[in-house]
Amino acid sequence: MRVPSKLAFTLAAALWLAGSASAYYHFLHYPSRVAPFVPIPEKWDLAALPNKTVHFFIADNGPEKLSPTDSLASLISQIRAAAKVWNDVETSDLRIAYGGLTPANAPAQAGQGIDVVFDEMAPGIVALGGPTKLGDLTGSSSGAFYPIQRAIIKFNIDLTQRPSSSDAFFMTAVHEFGHALGLQHSMASATMSTEVTRATSKARPLAADDIAGISLLYPAANFLAKHGSISGRVASAGVGIGLASVVAISAGGTAINALTHPDGSYRIDGVPAGTYYIYAHPLPPALQGELSPANIVAPVDNAGQPFPFPSSFETVFYPGVKDWQLAAQLTVAAGQTLEGVNFNVQRNARPAVYAVQTYGYPSAYSVKPAYVNFNGGRQLIAAAGVGLVVNGAPAPGLTVSVLGGASAVAPNSPRAFTADYILIDFVQPPGAPESPRHLVFSLNNDIYVLPAAFHAVQRPAPSITAVTPVGDSPARRAVVEGANLSAQTQIFFDGVPAAVIDAVPQGLLVSLPVAPPGHRAVVTALNPDGQTSMFVQAPSPATFAYDAQTGSAETAALAVSPNIVPAGIETMVEITGSAGVFSNGIPVLGFGSSDVVVQRAWVVAPNRILANIYVAPGAASQTLPLQVVNGLKSFPVSGGIQVQPNGSRRAYLSTSTQNISYPSFASIFPGSTVAINVPNLTAAQIAAGLQLNVGDLVVPVTATPGQIQFNVPFVGPGPVVVRLAAGGESMSIVLPVEAVPPFIISLSVGGTPVDTTRGLRQGDVVTAVVSGLGEPGASIAPNRLRVLIGNAEQTVFLVSPIPGSAALHQIQFVVTSAPPGSAPLTIQNGALISLPFPVVVR
Ligand SMILES: [Zn+2]
Repeated sequence: MRVPSKLAFTLAAALWLAGSASAYYHFLHYPSRVAPFVPIPEKWDLAALPNKTVHFFIADNGPEKLSPTDSLASLISQIRAAAKVWNDVETSDLRIAYGGLTPANAPAQAGQGIDVVFDEMAPGIVALGGPTKLGDLTGSSSGAFYPIQRAIIKFNIDLTQRPSSSDAFFMTAVHEFGHALGLQHSMASATMSTEVTRATSKARPLAADDIAGISLLYPAANFLAKHGSISGRVASAGVGIGLASVVAISAGGTAINALTHPDGSYRIDGVPAGTYYIYAHPLPPALQGELSPANIVAPVDNAGQPFPFPSSFETVFYPGVKDWQLAAQLTVAAGQTLEGVNFNVQRNARPAVYAVQTYGYPSAYSVKPAYVNFNGGRQLIAAAGVGLVVNGAPAPGLTVSVLGGASAVAPNSPRAFTADYILIDFVQPPGAPESPRHLVFSLNNDIYVLPAAFHAVQRPAPSITAVTPVGDSPARRAVVEGANLSAQTQIFFDGVPAAVIDAVPQGLLVSLPVAPPGHRAVVTALNPDGQTSMFVQAPSPATFAYDAQTGSAETAALAVSPNIVPAGIETMVEITGSAGVFSNGIPVLGFGSSDVVVQRAWVVAPNRILANIYVAPGAASQTLPLQVVNGLKSFPVSGGIQVQPNGSRRAYLSTSTQNISYPSFASIFPGSTVAINVPNLTAAQIAAGLQLNVGDLVVPVTATPGQIQFNVPFVGPGPVVVRLAAGGESMSIVLPVEAVPPFIISLSVGGTPVDTTRGLRQGDVVTAVVSGLGEPGASIAPNRLRVLIGNAEQTVFLVSPIPGSAALHQIQFVVTSAPPGSAPLTIQNGALISLPFPVVVR
């Protein structure tokens, strides 16, 4: 074990001191203090996490003080929603899931996880986060890393000043989760920027820079191939400058940032294809209370010694200009690296302007991030920052412009406002896009670039005037009335999304999240342009009070079976409750400990849940309370689950399955042969005879030590219980069985069947008969279908349902491009992909 005490505590100290402080940057180690500098990040080890999922656990004591109208249930729902923001990044393979409440007196946990706790902090400090325990240096195909084994997110025990319903609390929570996942502060006004320049909102909680940062640590397939890179060096008089920030910024709004290595070399990866200005700037000097510039934790060498922060230099655009209109616009292409984007900079004592924060005026009060509605409203922002204001007026010689020119700074602007703030007015041509606008401040022959200084929009922020339950008791729907709501608006009750069912004349008809009677939820609206109803309603947001009619009064305890599990296994558990208890919403299960985590759960009946759970090998002997949460309600469970020490190595069915018949399919379906790993299954147990049940059927099984194989009978689709009896032991797991994929029944050319002896030739007109491509009789447009021979796409010109048949379609296509040789032919209709049909191209 390697304890990053220095990192964690430095970070901790920095964050809680950063009450009013400022691509992404990771927690980095360099093996050597001399070039070449190959960075080693700290990150979660996907190979060591069940289902590539890191669970977070919330301390059940909660904060000592909440805002008078807040509640622990509301707070937990907002923390869960914040974690989901990172979970939902499609280009990242890391998943984040709620693991339940942890009792304050719980023993130390064996597995990996994130602990969300509430603790004393300096007044005004809301939260901090970061890794707390690292494993030993680990190699992987994508490079070496230090595996994060435990991380912490700490909220102030006094949250009176920051209600959990506020956008500010939510964005703080998203930010701290970012730290816990391995991200440091970045300089692109993204969620991982400090609060000074952060310009994301609850309605658009991540910027491109955040997405690049997380996706580079945990890249999903093809992420790197689908994004471009920029590399170069920042130097002054030939001497490389480390920890300088380089930003790729597009006039359309995207900004992605990376910091230089100790020798001044840099590389920005994960850049969406497009055209960018690129600039190099120094990290802002540490603000009062910050321990380092932008509270960045400096990279360390093998001995744990940090690399130094550099002195300041003048900001420049590539290729070495201060006027963005003279700067180069460079094109970044997917899968390619733009090399040699070098900067030769001039040292200075400190930047003329830095740490600029901006506010908009969507209604009577100022709001950060700044949004400017160019279709009415006040077309200005207020700005404060070091060097910006002198004697209550703009610093003499200060000029401001909008990078790229989609908006323009109005004449006679900036202008004086208050002792600390100036006002900047804007104009823009009609039809200019809704996007972030970047500002360039120029003063004393230095410039300061503020990405996403404001967001240009065409509509006011949404607002909610009334939330009225509708429907029979128990009412399960509500009409949300207000202004600037549309079918694209998201409605939240506290941190729980209320699905929009329909736009109705009065507003939006939504499903009502489950909550107990007496719960008071703050109802917010989030629009796709990034604005939320809190922009205009924060002092008195819309609320909904659940009563006997709308609340769920269910009090009967749920039962879990089995309720005794040994450490070091996976198994199915069944949770049952009174009639109808799970009929509305999707419950979340948690044991409050990384010793026992839920891998996946299915509601199979209104009173029954099946779940696969993982019990960590080192789990302590203990009883863990099971919690079932649906929406804003926690359901009581009698007993909980008792963990027994891992004495004997018990055989168990794992969730690691493979489709042997069709290795290219991740799914399991009837008719295919599946292999399930059964760790600890011995030759003696196999020799004594196995019995396998799949659903209600007894199924023939073949086995080798550690694995069974069987042909999936015609069950499902849906969750199916697999039970194995081996030498007196019984084990079970839930196997998700999918529908049988589309199936190519025949291929023919001019009436002659095609098989591996009658090959295909270029220009052949082929008729295919396929089952399961769509509903019986459904017509499918030829341009929706893809016919592939290997990876080569053929030309489809006719698709017709075969009359009177059950879900058969006839397809005609021309062999237009196929390399000679054997290849599988597949037919795809959207996500439906047929089983492969082997063909030979001559
Ligand atoms: Zn931070």
